[in-house]
Amino acid sequence: MEEKKVKRVNIKATAQMGKIMADYFYELNDAAKDRSKPIAWCTSVGPAELLRSMGFLIHFPENHGAMLGATRMATDMIPEANAIGYTPTICSYLTADIGAYLKGVTPLSKAYKGIKSVPKPDVLVFNTNQCRDVQDWFAWYGEEFDVLVIGIYTHRGVNDVGEELVVSVAEQIKNLIPPLEKVSGNKFDMGELKRVMALSRECSDLWQKVLFTASTKPSPLTFFDGTIQMGPAVVLRGTQQAIDYYKVLLAELEERIKNHVAAVEDEKYRIYWEGMPVWGRLSTHSKLFAGLETNVLASTYCNSWVFSDFDENDPFNSMARAYTKLFIVRSDEAKEEYIKNMLEYFKVDGIVYHDAMTCPNNSNCRYGMAQRLEKETNIPSLIINGDLNDTRMISDEQTKTNVEAFVEQLEERRDAL
Ligand code: SF4
Repeated sequence: MEEKKVKRVNIKATAQMGKIMADYFYELNDAAKDRSKPIAWCTSVGPAELLRSMGFLIHFPENHGAMLGATRMATDMIPEANAIGYTPTICSYLTADIGAYLKGVTPLSKAYKGIKSVPKPDVLVFNTNQCRDVQDWFAWYGEEFDVLVIGIYTHRGVNDVGEELVVSVAEQIKNLIPPLEKVSGNKFDMGELKRVMALSRECSDLWQKVLFTASTKPSPLTFFDGTIQMGPAVVLRGTQQAIDYYKVLLAELEERIKNHVAAVEDEKYRIYWEGMPVWGRLSTHSKLFAGLETNVLASTYCNSWVFSDFDENDPFNSMARAYTKLFIVRSDEAKEEYIKNMLEYFKVDGIVYHDAMTCPNNSNCRYGMAQRLEKETNIPSLIINGDLNDTRMISDEQTKTNVEAFVEQLEERRDAL
């Protein structure tokens, strides 16, 4: 395949997102300094709505882990965590984040003048819906800061999200209230939780609309854009700022659709990305695919912050349902059904599975899923080996060669039709 220099169109709204993300980080930093508001650390698909409704500002260590990856600081941090007993093969968000803490550095300092460290927590709240690593990760910080660590234990490998499961998780969410009241000094207020849930649902709906614009041919969006644009959906869900931002972003993408503006000029092939992004290679991968007139335009990963079950009129059950219906929580059977729908919806020509060395939870190609889906859908797939954060696990040359060969295969298939 001949690689071309293909034009990728930048999203104008990103500058506005930069401003609200900066406000978010500075607000946390100020609160950590003057102790004006309680601070909770929360897993990325943890009960953020409950925390926000109880007056907590929220820091998401996974977001920090991704920043360490994207700024390519992670690989230098990981050995610090290895030295205190966390092996190089466990979650490289965890090892990079704890390593950075031990080294006393953070990418926040480079991005936001005056911020010297992550904000010290008053409480750590996890949900094991995504993996067990988050529990160990938070346990370490609990000891380090001598603060309470509480969480929700969710079954994994779930096929149908039945009512008994929803009730069990909802009860666990309710049980978080008394300790959170004690830490924050704020009384739980059902009206406030409903208000935050409504905001979070609106954010989720808008984010889904943003992602679904990629079903248009040509797509106005790429997966690589999505990994950047998802920031507010992760850290600011439940706030008006996130909603306002996604309205602006959606309008820009709808305008592109109206004018047939493609995110990757001359889009020829459409790819679905399954698995974690390779944070330190977002730009490299974006250029690699675009150079082959191929748009990686949709992913399971970015869809993971769509919580269509949120219902302000049934906050606990609907929160439990949404956070248990997540792709990562589900059985292979349910995951395959989900991916099949996505392939059809986004009209894709091929799937790329990222087998991330340190995240088995988000690497779905290890037990034959790629082959089963290929057989059923006749859509070809490629597995690339790498990692979300640890660049030592990546071979750029191998990725490039494999991707080029894969796109060539797509071309041959199309020619044969
Ligand atoms: S799901 Fe994977 S990347 Fe995310 S915290 Fe768990 S192990 Fe780490």
